[in-house]
Amino acid sequence: MPAVQACETSRWTLLAFDERGEGRGKGPVRACRFKCRSWRCRRCSWEVAREDYRRVEYAASSAAWWLYVVLTFDPSEWSDPWAAYLGASRLWDKRLRRRMEREWGRLEYVQTWERTRRGWPHVNLLLRSRDLEEHVRSLPNRRRWIAEGGHGRGRLAHWTPWRRWIAGVAPSCGFGRRVWAEVVDSTDAMAAYLVKVAHEFSSSQFKAGDQRPLGAPRHFRRMRASRGLLPPRTRAVPVESVDRDTGEVTWSLRAKPLESRSSWSAVLANVPLEHFEARDANWNDVATARMFQYHAAKKRLGKPVPPPRFE
Ligand SMILES: [Zn+2]
Repeated sequence: MPAVQACETSRWTLLAFDERGEGRGKGPVRACRFKCRSWRCRRCSWEVAREDYRRVEYAASSAAWWLYVVLTFDPSEWSDPWAAYLGASRLWDKRLRRRMEREWGRLEYVQTWERTRRGWPHVNLLLRSRDLEEHVRSLPNRRRWIAEGGHGRGRLAHWTPWRRWIAGVAPSCGFGRRVWAEVVDSTDAMAAYLVKVAHEFSSSQFKAGDQRPLGAPRHFRRMRASRGLLPPRTRAVPVESVDRDTGEVTWSLRAKPLESRSSWSAVLANVPLEHFEARDANWNDVATARMFQYHAAKKRLGKPVPPPRFE
């Protein structure tokens, strides 16, 4: 993961400029530290976790009820966890989701992927659909003591016979036999779910309890959702800060809500930020960075790739 490596070792710099500037190509160029914004990165993961949590919370609290489902992978069915991660999208998108949608109509869902202590993936899933609503409404609002809940300690949950359906279907789609399903329709249950997600996202690297799917392949998305359910990510814009004592001006990227429009663009330069400490970045640097990116992309793929999104 070159971007994560470059971020952790500060090898790249973002050159930011105002597209709008009077006489395009003439405004000042700002050099900022490049941030990869990956959940794997030691420098970015905390910030990313906070933002991911905010987005899941927003999505989860957009409805009065959800089915909370945990799907596992059976280690005896896969050669190793890597294979399971590679198969994860296919199992969900091509099989289980389709199967569910045939039965219950279009799904709204949000997934968070995590890893077990042994390194296998599993997925926490909130889902709902119009047809499932009838089922959930028909259930008596009764809580039962579920012995296998609470990591084997047992806990009260709003039980649903729908668990039997998913327990039959999930293994036939390639997931493990161990499944969990409960109705989340109270503030308590929602709070418990969100605490779990917060824990998943914030447990830090190199500590016990880190559940991030670090063994997953490149570009593996830890969080996925049906279209339109998650609010957009924030974007980063360059912000000036002046040191009160020394008067030194530095530029850094700060998250801004997507709606607050910005005319800033950026291009990635493969030099560390210190390079621009002796002198200000200029449009020649932008041109060089663009050339570098163009050639790097051509070399990598044998075809041109779009310029990096300033996000
Ligand atoms: Zn990073």
